[in-house]
Amino acid sequence: MSHLSNIGTVKDILSRHGFTFSKKLGQNFLINPSVCPRMAEMGGAAPGVGVLEVGPGIGVLTYELAQRADKVVAIELDDRLLPVLAETLGEFDNVKVIHGDVLKVDLPRIIEEEFAGLEVVVCANLPYYITSPIVMGILEAKLPVRAITVMVQKEAAARICADPGSREAGALSAAVSYYAQPQVLFGVSRGSFMPAPDVDSAVIRLNIRPQPAVSPRDEALFFRVIKAGFSQRRKTLLNSLSSGLALSKPVLTAAMEGAGIKASARAEELTLADFCRLSDQIFALKISENNGK
Ligand code: SAM
Repeated sequence: MSHLSNIGTVKDILSRHGFTFSKKLGQNFLINPSVCPRMAEMGGAAPGVGVLEVGPGIGVLTYELAQRADKVVAIELDDRLLPVLAETLGEFDNVKVIHGDVLKVDLPRIIEEEFAGLEVVVCANLPYYITSPIVMGILEAKLPVRAITVMVQKEAAARICADPGSREAGALSAAVSYYAQPQVLFGVSRGSFMPAPDVDSAVIRLNIRPQPAVSPRDEALFFRVIKAGFSQRRKTLLNSLSSGLALSKPVLTAAMEGAGIKASARAEELTLADFCRLSDQIFALKISENNGK
């Protein structure tokens, strides 16, 4: 079956299966036939590649991925879509649909068992309510994945891919750029979906770095510093860190000075290297504090 994302085809399939959309599961299905082939191409679906898809819906993107990659594994939570997918993807023997919640399945095991010998990429039109947990979950688990290409809300794309120092920069963009090099690939208007959501979307690609961008002495502390730094955006870094990390201002002032960061700095002015030096300074001060006890 081709042109799966034609609006007539989508409507026909859904009505034959008596399907009604669930807002709770973020079900906005693509009806713009030009989007999925572009996403599959730019997402890296190709010979020698295994693709992990989240939320195949009726299989519009899955279809394009299966035509290009060696194997596609698609995880779908809504059991009402399983018979639909059996029909729309019936012609492929390189597609496996797993019924489950992507936040609960054992992704490392699935990747190991399903994609042996293949380079792995993630490609998905994500349910927006779990964009950050999915993206951060995959990055933090350090899964053997080369790239993550996902459709997200336009605003989320700007926040995820923000350059350090820009207005949109935040804890999410800092964490993403630690693990990956993000880029916005193309915008997708709300009219490309059925039902049309209230916001426009964009496809982004995160190219996973072979090694994280910087090497903090204590990774967990590094992320706590980033999170605390951005937690109260109207405050200076010194004030947000002091309340977020429960450290005294003199201690933090010394750490910031040691890291070469001016006392009046705000979190969004810092690069990842700045955050790394700062968390290393805090780490060292904490150790000497503990030794002095
Ligand atoms: N890929 C299809 C498309 O582009 O038309 C559907 C995309 S729709 C935005 C999101 C899909 O994710 C839906 O099929 C929904 O049922 C599924 N979904 C929602 N929450 C999920 C979860 N926790 N785990 C797996 N799939 C989920």
